[in-house]
Amino acid sequence: MVGWAIAVHGGAGVDPGLPVERQEEARRVLERCLRVGAAGLRAGLPAVDVVEMVVRELETDPVFNSGRGSALTRKGTVEMEASIMDGHGRRCGAVSGLTTVKNPVSLARLVMDRSPHSYLAFDGAEEFAREQGVEVVDNSYFITEENMSMLKRAKEANSIMYDYRVPAPGVDSASAGLEGAKVENGLLMNGLRISVYAPETVGCVVVDSNGWCAAATSTGGLMNKMSGRIGDSPLIGSGTYACGDCAVSCTGEGEAIIRSTLARDVAALVEYKGLSLQEAVDYAIKERLDEGMAGLIAVSRNGEVAYGFNTIGMFRGCATEDGFMEVSIW
Ligand code: ASP
Repeated sequence: MVGWAIAVHGGAGVDPGLPVERQEEARRVLERCLRVGAAGLRAGLPAVDVVEMVVRELETDPVFNSGRGSALTRKGTVEMEASIMDGHGRRCGAVSGLTTVKNPVSLARLVMDRSPHSYLAFDGAEEFAREQGVEVVDNSYFITEENMSMLKRAKEANSIMYDYRVPAPGVDSASAGLEGAKVENGLLMNGLRISVYAPETVGCVVVDSNGWCAAATSTGGLMNKMSGRIGDSPLIGSGTYACGDCAVSCTGEGEAIIRSTLARDVAALVEYKGLSLQEAVDYAIKERLDEGMAGLIAVSRNGEVAYGFNTIGMFRGCATEDGFMEVSIW
């Protein structure tokens, strides 16, 4: 028996100017989710059930960019994606392009458990959702006023909102990889402040007391993304991965995470090189992302928890069987 551990994230796109009330709100939601997960683990639920349960909570809360509160496409619609992986048996399920499914992570779970496939997208995924009888709602349910105004600003700035590229005060935009952008009390692009606030994509990783690991990630993707764009979150090995050794969930610039197969690289460093979990996380963040901005959470079968990010912050928290719990942003 190992001590169980759980970690959650609410995205690596943190604006240094995020109002304190919004920071507190995000912390409260993460803490509530950790308590939900910890109660499940105490009751003996397997890791895969706990990650699904916790991500459902986060999808239902509009604070984060998943389910209700998802980032919007250029057309002002929501196209959500999610994935789940059970390291015990290396089973996985993923979905993309969802427009009506209230809890995308649960549809990913059904793809894993009840379909012959690993990944369903767009019309086929929606059809599968109907066949399985999962809860569906109108697309407008997912759209919040706050996100509508962020989309408006992103369009005016002719930008996809790479919130995680917001440089810290004192850091110039070129060294943050943003040629042509100006930083004055936040990020100005084409003269417009594009980063408003950014609790983001959500994820959860768990090791249960049997030492089984699981991971799940869910997102609306990037604000002002092209319709049809698929990011890292539903891609097994990029945004999400779990195996016998560990479980990983990523957040940040999806295109960079995809190029670096970030989640699988962390697991491979543990599996093949025998690195400790934190060493593997640090190495992957430092050496694999090139110019990309991202963060991740991970747990190992021994009950370790590790975080890593090269953004200014990442909404994150963890709890362990010995009663430890923390939630942090910066
Ligand atoms: N990784 C997500 C994506 O590119 C965004 C995020 O993590 O906030 O879709």
